[in-house]
Amino acid sequence: MSTLFKRTKILATVGPSVFAEEKLKEMVYAGVNGFRLNFSHGSYDERDEQIRIIRKYAAERGKSVAIVQDLQGPKIRLGELKDNHLDLKKDDEIVLDYAIKEHDGSKTMPVQWNLAEKAKVGEPIFLFDGKIRTTVTEIVSKTAIKCRVENDGFVMSRKGVNLPETDLGGDIFTEKDLADIEFGASRDFDYVAMSFVQSAEDINKMRQILTSHGSKAKIIAKIETKKAVESDEAMEAIVEATDGIMIARGDMAIEAGNEVVPIVQRKLITFCRKHSKICIVATQMMSSMVDNPEPTRAEVSDVATAVLLGADAVMLSDETANGKYPIETIREMKKVILYTQNHSEIKKFDILPEGHYKNYDALSRAAVEIAETINADVIVAATKTGATASAIAAQRPNIPIVTVTSDARVAGQLALTYANSAFVREYDENYAFDAVQDLKSSGYLKLPEGRDSLKVVLVSGLRDEEGGTNSIQIRKI
Ligand code: PGA
Ligand code: MN
Repeated sequence: MSTLFKRTKILATVGPSVFAEEKLKEMVYAGVNGFRLNFSHGSYDERDEQIRIIRKYAAERGKSVAIVQDLQGPKIRLGELKDNHLDLKKDDEIVLDYAIKEHDGSKTMPVQWNLAEKAKVGEPIFLFDGKIRTTVTEIVSKTAIKCRVENDGFVMSRKGVNLPETDLGGDIFTEKDLADIEFGASRDFDYVAMSFVQSAEDINKMRQILTSHGSKAKIIAKIETKKAVESDEAMEAIVEATDGIMIARGDMAIEAGNEVVPIVQRKLITFCRKHSKICIVATQMMSSMVDNPEPTRAEVSDVATAVLLGADAVMLSDETANGKYPIETIREMKKVILYTQNHSEIKKFDILPEGHYKNYDALSRAAVEIAETINADVIVAATKTGATASAIAAQRPNIPIVTVTSDARVAGQLALTYANSAFVREYDENYAFDAVQDLKSSGYLKLPEGRDSLKVVLVSGLRDEEGGTNSIQIRKI
C-alpha cells in the first residue's frame, strides 16, 4: 500500500494559469495537498471564489486539503519607472524616494516603502532580485536615501528591493498585511504564511493578531531573511515559535547568498522534525517547467533530495501560477516523490528529541516501532488537536498515516503533514476504527495481494480532548 500514497506533500500556488474552475479541479485530482493563495496579487472576491472551488472539489474527491494565505509582508518594490527601464553603471549615485510617485527618467526613483525609516549608511541594498548591488551612502530626507551602485546593469518597474542587513525591529506588518489578516480570519484558511520573518518575536506578534481576530489558522514562517538564518540558534528559535516553516529559497538566496541555501535547508528540516513542525521546501523546484513540458535532471534531483531529507511538503510557485504546464508539473513532481520514497527510507532519529516527553510523544514513537516491526499496512491516529498525528509524522515512518479527527480545521492543517491523510468524522469511542473500515469498503485503502485484512496500528484515546490519546492497539480490519 505504501507505494500508492505520497508521503511528502505538494503545496501548489494558485495564479493565472489555474484560475479556471476546471484547472483547480484538475489540481485536486492530480494530487495537490495544499493551495497557496498569494496575497501579493489579486482581489478578495477572487480569493473567495478560489476557496469555494478548492473546497468543493476536495470534498468531491473525499480528501482534506490545506489552504494557505500567503501574506506579502515587507516585500519592497521599486515604483513605476519611465519607459519601464533604467540603465545603471558602477559608481552611479541613485536616490530611492518613497515620496515621489512619478519617475522622470533620472536616477531618482520611486520606491513602495519608506527605506529612510530603517536603512542605515553603510548597509547593502539589492535591487531587481539581487542583480544590482548598492550601498547606502546617505539618508537624504525623511523619505529618501542615496545609494552607490556597485555593478553595471539595469532595473525595471516594480522589481524587488532586498535589505539583507537591515533590522526591521519587529516592524514587519504592513497596513496591507493587517487588512489581509483581518479578511483571512473570517475565511476558510488553514494556514497564514508570513513573509520575511526575522525572529521568533515576529511570530509571537502574529499569533496575538490572529487570536485577536478569532482566527484558528496556524502560522507558517517563511525563512528568507539573512537575519533568520544567521545562526543555528536563530533558526531553531523561529522553528520553536512557529507551527511550520517554508524554506523560501528565492529571497533567501538573494539575502544570504546562493551557497548558503542547501545547508540551511538541511538544518531547517532537521529542526522541524525535532520539534514536530511542518517544513515546506519552496521555490524553483521545477522552474524550467514554466516553459517546458519536462523538468531538468537537476530539478528532479532537487525534489528527490527534499524527500530524502524528510521535508513534509514541496512547493510549486511560478510553475503552477504562471506556467504553461501546471498540471504536468504536479504529475512530474508526484512521480519523483513516489519513486524516491519507495526506493529509499528516511533516516530516523536515534533518540526522542529532548523535551518531547508528553504522552503522545511516547505513544507515537512506540506506535511507529510496532508498526514497522509487524510490517503494518497503515498507522491510524485519532486526534483532537493534531498533536498525536504530528508526533507520529515526526518519526518519519515509511508507512501511511490515516488520521481521524472531529475538527475540519485540524484535518486541513494535517494535509501538509508528512504521510498524513486526514478524515473528518464525528467523535465516538470507535470513530477511528469505523473510519478505517469505511475507507477499506470505499476502496481508498486497498488490501495487499493475497491477504483478506489490513494490519493496522491504532493510536487513540477514550476521550475526545487535548492530550486524551492513551492507547495503542494492533487490529485487523
Ligand atoms: P515568495 O516566497 O514567492 O512569496 O517570494 C518564496 C521565496 O522567496 O522563495
Ligand atoms: Mn519570498
